[in-house]
Amino acid sequence: DRAGRVVVNEDMTAGGYKNVYVVGDMSNRENLPGVAQVAIQGGEYVAANIAAEADGRDVAERQPFEYFDKGSMATVSRFSAVVKMGKVEVTGFIGWILWLAVHLMFLVGFRNRLVSCVSWGLNVLDRNRWQMVSTRQQMYARNAIDRLAEFNKDKAEQDLPLEVRDTRREHRAKRNK
Ligand SMILES: Cc1cc2nc3c(=O)[nH]c(=O)nc-3n(C[C@H](O)[C@H](O)[C@H](O)COP(=O)(O)OP(=O)(O)OC[C@H]3O[C@@H](n4cnc5c(N)ncnc54)[C@H](O)[C@@H]3O)c2cc1C
Repeated sequence: DRAGRVVVNEDMTAGGYKNVYVVGDMSNRENLPGVAQVAIQGGEYVAANIAAEADGRDVAERQPFEYFDKGSMATVSRFSAVVKMGKVEVTGFIGWILWLAVHLMFLVGFRNRLVSCVSWGLNVLDRNRWQMVSTRQQMYARNAIDRLAEFNKDKAEQDLPLEVRDTRREHRAKRNK
């Protein structure tokens, strides 16, 4: 589709291939949102199909994938989130605590929960957003700045546009820390 996802059949398979499944963010099943629950439920559905067919069930007996909407949650800022579960709507700090609890609950295994808690804790204390460092946009920008610097190497630093100078200074300072 326009977002680069694979438009899947009602059993989450791709095109005419009954044994090729696509789930989660890579898939588009009737424009379901790209959220964790769609990925989890899709994964469970596909795993159940594979197990049943390995046990001898016929492919023709497959039921279509049905998504059960458990509600939506999104963090808004460091201590605030919005939560909607059926008719219940919670916002602010309580919503944020709910967001943390539900997301922790759905992580698999103690190690993942512990690592997430430490990572979230550091995120709350530190205003940097390390997960953003390697976004494609930033990589393009960094590479472009480096290329520009190379291009301008004969010129004095002062000839560079102000925003490029500032970004380079910041980038260099971080690298030298
Ligand atoms: C910033 C952000 C906030 C979000 N917040 C929420 C939220 O609050 N609630 C919510 O429900 N959803 C949220 N989402 C969406 C949710 O994270 C995704 O919908 C969900 O993770 C999709 O799961 P997935 O298994 O399809 O993909 P992913 O979780 O992205 O898993 C794909 C995995 O494949 C690995 N991988 C990629 N390429 C390769 C390769 N070539 N070889 C091997 N491994 C590979 C990746 O490293 C990754 O671990 C958020 C997403 C983002 C980016």
